[in-house]
Amino acid sequence: MAGLCEGRVAIVTGGGRGIGREYCLMLAEEGAKVVVNDLGGARDGVGADLGPADEVVNEIKAMGGEAVANGADVSDWDQAKGMIDQAVQAFGKLDVLINNAGILRDRMLVNMTEAEWDAVIKVHLKGTFAPAHHAAAYWRDRNKATGELVGGRIINTSSVSGIYGNIGQTNYGAAKMGIAGFTIIAARELRRYGVTVNAIAPGALTRLTEDLGGPITEERKRSGDPKWVAPIAVWLASEESAEVTGRMFEASGGTLAIAEGWHRGPTAEPVQDPNLLGPIVAEMMSKARKNAGMNGQDLD
Ligand code: NAP
Repeated sequence: MAGLCEGRVAIVTGGGRGIGREYCLMLAEEGAKVVVNDLGGARDGVGADLGPADEVVNEIKAMGGEAVANGADVSDWDQAKGMIDQAVQAFGKLDVLINNAGILRDRMLVNMTEAEWDAVIKVHLKGTFAPAHHAAAYWRDRNKATGELVGGRIINTSSVSGIYGNIGQTNYGAAKMGIAGFTIIAARELRRYGVTVNAIAPGALTRLTEDLGGPITEERKRSGDPKWVAPIAVWLASEESAEVTGRMFEASGGTLAIAEGWHRGPTAEPVQDPNLLGPIVAEMMSKARKNAGMNGQDLD
């Protein structure tokens, strides 16, 4: 039986470890040819070594699949372009870009350094924008040359830390919320070429999260297996998902959900005198839904 992604060509950034590695393996199981990108640095993004990407490539080849390694820093403009070019050179085309690479530099706002802020914003936000830009330009050219919808897919990575908000992660949360907005806008822009853009807010026990959230119990290992996250990414990568775009999926061993975006809540007639606003805001506040907590539910 043909796989869900048979013959499709996919890039997975940060594909050497954690959730990205699982994406690569499941995409290959479903028939995709995979460019496994990984910088090969430490948890905070320092250093570089192609080892983790090569290991995943070897695993895919051992199961009879096709894959190549790529060591680009996804937040570097030219290296991101080189990664898109490598997919086309190696496999003749590009169908899917999964922007998954990420780092953490958690710190309370009052203690956070400029370097910690800049590093996280660069890897997540520019590391989403740069590959997406080069892939989108490639798909636009293909659409113009053939006159056909290209069936491209961009799958970005957000986080409940951004869309709902987690203490100690103003840098990471700002980047992940930025990726949520980026996803909605890019989806609207690229629809005309036949490219969908969605995001996943994953939950998994990986190098990124293993020292957060208390002891690693058998239950945490089970529900934290990235195998729970990969199916929605692989489905979004397939041709079957053509009608789904601009959406945020939460995916973990405990949840598969669509996180709904900002909506306008209670409204009032605008006023020009700020002295009038006290009771007006109080009235709107009494009607407005509370912001969601980290579990996606209203705070009480
Ligand atoms: P992980 O195991 O640390 O994997 C992250 C991968 O990103 C690593 O392979 C890393 O490569 C790669 N990477 C980092 N900076 C890069 C760069 N500049 N260029 C290319 N690759 C780079 O963490 P993970 O948990 O699987 O995280 C994957 C994504 O899910 C991240 O975007 C993360 O923010 C997001 N996320 C995870 C969770 C969770 O529960 N695990 C929750 C919410 C969101 P090297 O380390 O080898 O350099």
